[in-house]
Amino acid sequence: MRRETPPLIDPFQRAITYLRVSVTDRCDFRCAYCMSENMTFLPKRELLTLEELDRLCSVFISLGVEKLRVTGGEPLVRRGIMTFFRAMSRHLESGALRELTLTTNGSQLARFADELAECGVKRVNVSLDTRDPDKFRQITRWGSLDKVLAGIEAARKAGMRVKINTVALKGFNEDELFDLVRWCAEDDMDITFIEVMPMGDIGNEQRLGQYWSLEDLRARLAERYTLVDTPERTGGPARYVRLAETGQRIGFITPLSHNFCESCNRVRLTCIGELHQCLGQEEAADLRKVLRENPEDDAPVVEAIRAAIRRKPKGHDFDYSRRTVAGRVSRHMNTTGG
Ligand code: SAM
Ligand code: SF4
Repeated sequence: MRRETPPLIDPFQRAITYLRVSVTDRCDFRCAYCMSENMTFLPKRELLTLEELDRLCSVFISLGVEKLRVTGGEPLVRRGIMTFFRAMSRHLESGALRELTLTTNGSQLARFADELAECGVKRVNVSLDTRDPDKFRQITRWGSLDKVLAGIEAARKAGMRVKINTVALKGFNEDELFDLVRWCAEDDMDITFIEVMPMGDIGNEQRLGQYWSLEDLRARLAERYTLVDTPERTGGPARYVRLAETGQRIGFITPLSHNFCESCNRVRLTCIGELHQCLGQEEAADLRKVLRENPEDDAPVVEAIRAAIRRKPKGHDFDYSRRTVAGRVSRHMNTTGG
């Protein structure tokens, strides 16, 4: 594949090497903090086809993107998604792409784990907020814990490393903190805690009620474990510690209590081809339009991407400090991808 030069550098001298691509807004769960129960999804014709996704991601890779994370909605419910993974694996083979990975709720992992591993996926993030089957059903509304646990097992058996993503929810999983950490340590999985973010309109009162600061979570962990700060960074919002007692790595994604924007290396592509330069801002570039208007020529697509990167904002404006939800963006997490 031809490498375009120069690579993507934004106005704040951040190199954009990481693309998160949402391949569908649909999901087989309805997590309470992510979606309302009766979500309206986009008409299917609005979605990028698998061929368009391939073309667009390949252009990004030619522009220096080295890491591709597939997300959603639930990426594994998109029909034919393995065709897309297989297509992307050619960029791993050529060496242009260093990592191909996904974030999933795990419900379909048992079915796809072997194929994903064959496509070169080495790591997978699985979201799981509780190990209690009743609470799991309550928070996901439609999900089954057993299926997700079987999916995690299948992924591990297929040789992939699993990282658990847990949204910290006040009054919901506070009591499971140590159990979740111990479980991950026993199965050699990393775990990252995420603060609930003000995405989509599910009611501000409810949102403030869900918010459990990771400062507090961290302080509770420190009552039982020795937390050793590590300099590990992925260019994203996560900060890491190691537990001296178990050696395991714990991540914290704290968009609200700490600002993480200065080292941001990523952009997000929605399933309808909008490029979001920042998760926390409304602005986006319509790449689908450029793609469809130029079916044979990638040059205008390259220029549209460059123009969008030139407009990447410095950071987000989320703020809970006044006990109101400031800086909320109107789209739900499933449209932009987590
Ligand atoms: N369906 C997949 C999953 O659940 O992993 C991928 C998409 S999901 C939108 C990605 C991540 O975003 C999940 O870990 C989920 O818990 C998280 N998430 C969703 N809504 C959120 C919110 N309002 N605040 C913080 N994290 C959220
Ligand atoms: Fe679906 Fe993931 Fe949102 Fe839950 S967090 S509703 S699994 S997209």
